[in-house]
Amino acid sequence: MGEAPAFIVDDLQNQIGFENGFGSKFKGCKTTTTIGDKTYVIGGNDESTLPVEVRIFDKATGNWVTPIVLGSKPNSCKGLSAISLNDDRILIVNKGSAPDDCILFLEVDTWFVREQKKIRGTEVVAWSKGVWGDAEKPVVISGPSGVGKGTLISMLMKEFPSMFGFSVSHTTRAPRGMEKDGVHYHFTEQSIMEKEIKDGKFVEYASVHGNLYGTSIEAVEVVTDAGKRCILDIDVQGARSVRASSLEAILIFICPPSMEELETRLRSRRTETEEQILKRLQNAEVEMEQGKSSGIFDHILYNDNLDDCYESLKKLLGIDGAAAATQISAPQGIDLPADRSVSKMDNKIIINYGTPELEKASKSLIVLDVSSLKGGAPGRTRGLDVYATDSFSDDLNGINQPS
Ligand code: ADP
Ligand code: 5GP
Repeated sequence: MGEAPAFIVDDLQNQIGFENGFGSKFKGCKTTTTIGDKTYVIGGNDESTLPVEVRIFDKATGNWVTPIVLGSKPNSCKGLSAISLNDDRILIVNKGSAPDDCILFLEVDTWFVREQKKIRGTEVVAWSKGVWGDAEKPVVISGPSGVGKGTLISMLMKEFPSMFGFSVSHTTRAPRGMEKDGVHYHFTEQSIMEKEIKDGKFVEYASVHGNLYGTSIEAVEVVTDAGKRCILDIDVQGARSVRASSLEAILIFICPPSMEELETRLRSRRTETEEQILKRLQNAEVEMEQGKSSGIFDHILYNDNLDDCYESLKKLLGIDGAAAATQISAPQGIDLPADRSVSKMDNKIIINYGTPELEKASKSLIVLDVSSLKGGAPGRTRGLDVYATDSFSDDLNGINQPS
């Protein structure tokens, strides 16, 4: 067994006695939570220590493990408290952060983390930022090169500039004439992109027509954070990865009316060499087969007449009488405290505020509703809701008060 630093032993001793990992003790910028045989020690040595580190004490082996930590770590830390959710992630309240930044999740056994553990053959945990409210599902547009994906997406973005935002992919291919870095693609080098993929920064990636393409987590999140619905233009392999990921997207496959027409469109675009055109046409056969039969896609659209196809796309996305995005901003007037006990009842996290001022104002409990969480590492965790209340009986009817 490796030697444990004194502060961790101290914290573990404080933690013993808490059952099932529910509840943790506030102690500066550091907290411990136990799930099964593992105790997760999260935080630094004092209030200002950054980065926030994670160490795991495995009771079964008696060993300390330093896991690979993926995702964006908290960028400030004045005090943490934590609680286990569903035994696969730890919800963390970061005291003193802006309301937009104060809820974090450390995923320890989610699908993404389990996959990463398999790939890396070692212990892995992943940070995911908590976001208030929900967002519209991203839209994946896929289909063979030249079918008209870019054209349809441009039409959508032009007609609804405040509703949709484009996920700017990374690629190792060279820019075409008018293409701008950061706008059409993030043009990058193979070695850099491979390193970033290894670091878990991509939702999906694939080798397409001899180049590497991929969607970074950040590319999707910046669009969603701006309150827009994210549109991804990716190939079938990428769509398959998205289908398997925590990104709950609508996946649409665009078909050409015929392979002859596809070739005509690809050639008329005049952006590829003859060799590249032939490669794209060859790949199109496989893509068409997979797109139509694989069960990856929710919808298939035929792009014969462009205007008709665009109308069908809009209808499918519900933009004829569209529902507004449901994303909400951070709660106003509720400053989530970290230096009070947190407990969990069903899908509600109860933070006992309990300050004399608040008691006078008859609001001593903050309730975080985590019943509708969506997404998660490698992206944000959305769907958080919060409200203040004065008693368990009012808002938490039928649920036993924690001891
Ligand atoms: P992709 O993004 O799928 O590779 P593009 O949007 O670049 O394809 O379209 C390829 C070419 O086909 C472009 O020159 C575009 O103007 C043209 N095009 C797109 N849709 C249609 C259509 N329905 N009918 C005829 N030409 C089309
Ligand atoms: P192009 O080189 O014509 O811009 O794109 C070629 C193919 O790569 C298209 O089928 C496009 O959908 C796909 N593609 C673009 N970005 C991505 C991405 O981020 N991921 C994946 N998997 N495919 C992408």
